[in-house]
Order: sequence, then structure tokens, then C-alpha cells
Amino acid sequence: MQKISKTSLKVAEVFPKCFKHKKEKALRENFANILPLIIQQEQDYEVYASNGNLDKFKYLTESDIKPYNLTADNMKYLYNSGLKHDGWEARDYYEELVGVDAICPYCEVGPATTLDHVLEKSKSLGTTVTPINLVPSCSFCNTHKNVKKDIVLWHPYYDNPVDFRWLYAEYLGIKNKKQRINYYVQIPSEHVGEKNAELIESSFDAFYINTSYKAYAITTFKDIQLTMLEQVRKGKTEAKKRTLVHDALYNRYISCKHANQNSFSTALYECLLDSDIYYQELVDIVSKDPKPINN
Ligand SMILES: [Zn+2]
Repeated sequence: MQKISKTSLKVAEVFPKCFKHKKEKALRENFANILPLIIQQEQDYEVYASNGNLDKFKYLTESDIKPYNLTADNMKYLYNSGLKHDGWEARDYYEELVGVDAICPYCEVGPATTLDHVLEKSKSLGTTVTPINLVPSCSFCNTHKNVKKDIVLWHPYYDNPVDFRWLYAEYLGIKNKKQRINYYVQIPSEHVGEKNAELIESSFDAFYINTSYKAYAITTFKDIQLTMLEQVRKGKTEAKKRTLVHDALYNRYISCKHANQNSFSTALYECLLDSDIYYQELVDIVSKDPKPINN
């Protein structure tokens, strides 16, 4: 979970552009009339999000927007056919919010090519195009996001970076020719009960981080396989083989940990370091093919 710089875009600027092209004059007027309320929502959102209690934020529901002759579909339209719509002026804001070559702040691996509504657009009707509610994210995190009722998730614009180790993995061995791994969250005892710890646990589940990290790990397993088999072949004794494999993994672990202590690679190398299952699988492969590969 990464902190990213908060957008400076304001809803007062973005909102009018999202319905500018709408043909029905009456609807355009309805949108214009609700703008002060939408601006108020943004100000309230800012206060609640800054204090880390967005769960207490009073979002607009259907009954709140009814006096303006607007529906939930109208508010969702602002995003789907306004901000996101290719060719309209508002699309420039969409592009600006997504950013260029950005990495998803939730999983920290996927390319951020979409916008995630921190408060869902089907629920919080006054923040469907509010920039501070729109976070760049990868399509996996965005599409799989599953928010359980009243659960607050990591907000990349507001929540502070985590300075402790929380991501770990367990190597489960080969099954059906596939190397299997499982990622999990483990909060250090001194941080249990802290706000950030809760956000990590809820977001890890909500964004299916284990599923995406397992997929990324498959590529890493393939990348290191040849090098690890060579360590086993090089070792003259059992102890030496084991040390060589350990050291090769340890170097990668230290390098990854230096870059990001909670990355999927850090957890992956760490769990392989002392894994008897992983080592034994390498030994078994080498015993069937003891010759070094000449290339
Ligand atoms: Zn992601």
C-alpha cells in the first residue's frame, strides 16, 4: 500500500465539464443547481479523509439528490459518459488523474490505467467525479475490489506510509507442475490495533492482493529456476549445495527488501531461503538431469 501525492484538481472545475455536452437543457440546469452541494461534499470529504474516518462521512444518497430532480444514474452518468468519455473535454481530467506510467498504489505492481472510486459511485452519489475520491489503480485491483459493509480501505492520497514489515509468504511446493505460494498479512505485535494495520488487513483482502501476487510470483519462479539449479549442480557436498542456493536467494532478498520491504518479491525470496520443500524440489530436478546446461 503506497502513498501517492494528492491531486490538486477541484470538483468545482471538473464537475461542470462532465455534463457540458448533455443535450437536455433541463438536466444541465439540474446539475448546475446541485454543484454547491457537491462542492460542500468535497470539503467534508477532505476533513473526514484527513482525519482517517471516511467511514463517518455522510455521503449523498438518492433522497438527498431527489429535490434537484436527479437520480443515481444521472450522477453515475457524470463519470461514465462525462469524465471517462473519450473525446469530451472532461476526459483530459481523467487522463490527468490516471497519470503517466503510474504504478497502482494498492498492489504496487500493476500499471495504473483506471480510476478507482474510493467511495463507490453506486453508493456515494455526491463524489462520482470528485477528484480526491478518484485514485489511479490497475484494472485488476479496480475490478476485483470487494468492499465489505462499513469497512474502510487504504486511501493512497491520505493514509501515511507504513514503516513496518507486514507482507509474508509461504512456499507450498509444486503441484500439477506449478510452483505454489501463498501470501498473507502478519502485523507485528507492537502495531496490532493501529489504524494502518487495520487498513492493510482490510485492503489486502478487498483488492485480492494474494491472487495478484501469486500470479506475479509465477514469473519470478521461472526467472530464477536456471540459476537455482546451477547452484545445486555446482555444490560438491549436500551442505555446499544448500548454502549456494541459500546465498543466491539471500542476495535477491536483501536487494528486494532494500527497495520495498513489503513487495511480493521480498516475501517470495524470504520464504524460499529456508524452505526445505523448495530446496528438495531443486535437488530432485537435478538428480534427473545432473548435467550443467551449456549455454
Ligand atoms: Zn493494483
